[in-house]
Amino acid sequence: MPDSLVQLLRWYADMGVDIALDDMPHDRTIEARSSDRAIAPKGRGEEWEKNEAPPSRPATVPAPAAARETNLLAPAYNLEQDAREAAASAQSLAELREQLLRFSGFGLKATATQLVFGAGEAGAEVMFVGEAPGADEDRQGVPFVGRAGQLLDKMLASISLDRDKVYIANVVPWRPPGNRTPTPLETAACLPFIRRQIELVAPKILVCLGAPSAQTLLGSKEGITRLRGRWFDYLAGDERIKALAMLHPAYLLRQPAQKKLAWQDLRLLAKGIARLPGGVDKTSLEKTPGDGL
Ligand code: URA
Repeated sequence: MPDSLVQLLRWYADMGVDIALDDMPHDRTIEARSSDRAIAPKGRGEEWEKNEAPPSRPATVPAPAAARETNLLAPAYNLEQDAREAAASAQSLAELREQLLRFSGFGLKATATQLVFGAGEAGAEVMFVGEAPGADEDRQGVPFVGRAGQLLDKMLASISLDRDKVYIANVVPWRPPGNRTPTPLETAACLPFIRRQIELVAPKILVCLGAPSAQTLLGSKEGITRLRGRWFDYLAGDERIKALAMLHPAYLLRQPAQKKLAWQDLRLLAKGIARLPGGVDKTSLEKTPGDGL
């Protein structure tokens, strides 16, 4: 391969462009229109008993028109199927981790330092799911340990939750190069694994951090400002659990004025935890307002 081409490819990789998505152009506005679905209950902060919306299904990536016609993307869609089978075969978190390490379909493995699987124990009452690891997480192999993670720790502490008592993971468990947003196909390939991870952790409450996590796991195209502050039903295998979307701590670092919304969501979460069997409402003891985060 000529040197100039190698340099160009290296430049693309450094910029975070590590895969060619498709050979053919697609009209994604048609796909967006056809896959729009409303799943949300009405009203912010609604009590979860009153939530009669059907349980959320995860987002699936519709096959682009050109792919449907020419089957150009067939390998990618087999990848999703293979991912589903590999994830379903795991009977424990340790097995799921092994499956992820063994699964050959993830391009991100080649650019990330290591797998960032999750932190916490199966059986944690609350599970938080972010988008994908950043540079600090990639180095340490642990989710949410960078600046956003430190803010998450403070957010948890503000409602008397401890990082050691919850489970934390990401939809995509490898860092995308240059911290770029994971592509729809990368997310689709990872989705069966994070869904299985949620089943195996079996939390009572799922918290989606940020729009990508909320949209993927709740199967919605609504923005985070509409998704946050409401309870959803989420089907973890046969179990229907409660799910909440919150603003991502990385966003709160960029937009500190929005911490007041995060505080509302944290109080909602604390109330949800208090409703669990044996739960205690600690928010009434809380003196620190949200902007103390
Ligand atoms: N942002 C995420 O979504 N996940 C992490 O683990 C760190 C930052």
